[in-house]
Amino acid sequence: MTQKELRNNMTAVKATLSSQKYKSLKALSVTQGSLLVLGLGQKDESAAPVPSVKTLRDLEPALRTLVSTPGFTGKAESIVAVLHQNSAVTGLPHSHLLGVGVGSPTDCQPQNILSLGGKVAHSLRGHKATEVDIFIDSLYNPAASVSGKDAPKDHAGRPLLTRIPSREDFLEKFALGLLLGLYSFDRYKKKKDDYAPRIRFVSAILDEKKLKDILAKATTLAKGIYLTRDLQTTPGGDMQPAEIARQAQEAGRKSGFKTIVWDEKKLKAEGMNGILTVGQGSEAPPRFIIMEHNAGKKNLPTIVLVGKGVSFDTGGISIKPAAGMEEMKMDMSGAAAVIGAMHVISERKLPVHVVGLVASAENMPSGKAVRPGDIFTAHDGQTVEVINTDAEGRLVLCDALSYAKTFKPDAVIDMATLTGAVIVALGPISTGLMGNNAALIEGFKKASSVTGEKVWELPLYEEYKEDMRSKVADYRNSGNREGGSQKGGTFLNFFVGGAYPWIHLDIAGTADTPKGQGAHCPPDVGTGVPVSSIVEFVSNLKDYFKTK
Ligand SMILES: [Zn+2]
Repeated sequence: MTQKELRNNMTAVKATLSSQKYKSLKALSVTQGSLLVLGLGQKDESAAPVPSVKTLRDLEPALRTLVSTPGFTGKAESIVAVLHQNSAVTGLPHSHLLGVGVGSPTDCQPQNILSLGGKVAHSLRGHKATEVDIFIDSLYNPAASVSGKDAPKDHAGRPLLTRIPSREDFLEKFALGLLLGLYSFDRYKKKKDDYAPRIRFVSAILDEKKLKDILAKATTLAKGIYLTRDLQTTPGGDMQPAEIARQAQEAGRKSGFKTIVWDEKKLKAEGMNGILTVGQGSEAPPRFIIMEHNAGKKNLPTIVLVGKGVSFDTGGISIKPAAGMEEMKMDMSGAAAVIGAMHVISERKLPVHVVGLVASAENMPSGKAVRPGDIFTAHDGQTVEVINTDAEGRLVLCDALSYAKTFKPDAVIDMATLTGAVIVALGPISTGLMGNNAALIEGFKKASSVTGEKVWELPLYEEYKEDMRSKVADYRNSGNREGGSQKGGTFLNFFVGGAYPWIHLDIAGTADTPKGQGAHCPPDVGTGVPVSSIVEFVSNLKDYFKTK
């Protein structure tokens, strides 16, 4: 396969989604080997499908068959399959039935819905189902309210949701979880993944146009996340800064955003010495990528997204231990998320001026590499003493955050696999969120509660600053280990300098380990976090943050 064919292979969502308005499930035209997915409530709730479909009598024999299958509990994400079902008994034309436990109403939360879709995806793949009907109405089982006694709450009793997923929300999340669960990374496998099921969503409640629109929305978002995962998971040797730039340009060509790439000469001329310093030990020169959606449309609000694009992080002269170093190919996950989000934002033609900035360099040890103790002058003129060459993410980001001021943004969101400390603090469950603006912080938290990508706020106390000052330069890039993630945020904040509302997302725990994220994140590939939340935030900007 040529490089070009390999590239074309990337970001292909193989499953096709379509829809049909419900008349009767008996009347669906299906071929041999077809499978019907039905949602089932918990056993203690008589295992009936959710109330909205109780009236659909023609399902009862099929539901009875599924419910009486040994091992069925109806708990969320429990799955039971009846293969070669008896059409004479159930009256349904499909040869296979798949019963999916939808759990109790409080299980109807974004992350659970995504995971449910992921579980179904694994099951379809396991059964090699090629033609699938999903009776979506039977899966929707919403909580009654966001604030009542039965509303989903966190460990401290705070409401988890800012809104209960509507039927439309549910369908979009479920379809997204399904597509994300079907994701596979086969670029380097001799045998390619050729599993490409045709999946039809059937509804008695949502009309055909609505179904189609929602499925198209989910597919667009899935494509962006597939792109992010592809970029994340490709080895560092094949995803160096110039290749990241090329991928951004290609995404721009496909979806319509404008891309400018600065090479090492331009970086020098512009004084982007943080990016140059990190990249100077590598044979592969650094790049700065400027992506712009709705460029020049002056009366739109401006959001700048900034991504850390360290294409491979050895730690440099402060070299990392050997064990697990291969995972450092994902140290460009922030950049991958910015490119994936730009792709979706541009495809959806969202009425916001969105700028994506990617600061990309490869962090290698060599005779040319930056030494501990070296000092450079960043883009805004402030100087930095490099104490630890493995704290390099903040060095590429400080130039980008300074350059972001050029766009007079209403808000800036940076995303970076910045610190191991955030994994110590929060585990692989939640992204660490820091920022300088309460309204933006709260707004982004809301957006992430809608997408199910968990974030948790960490403080930027004044006291952290002291440890980041250098005796010989303005700042040093590394302090002691205490509060490591917040000190990373504190360092970035020196270069934001109060110029704009800003949040920093430390995705070191959530971008490159699917543990704890759910069944829609297959193992050993990037997760694509936080593309969904960025797209949600920009799509419904007015709901989340007041701009000019
Ligand atoms: Zn590092």
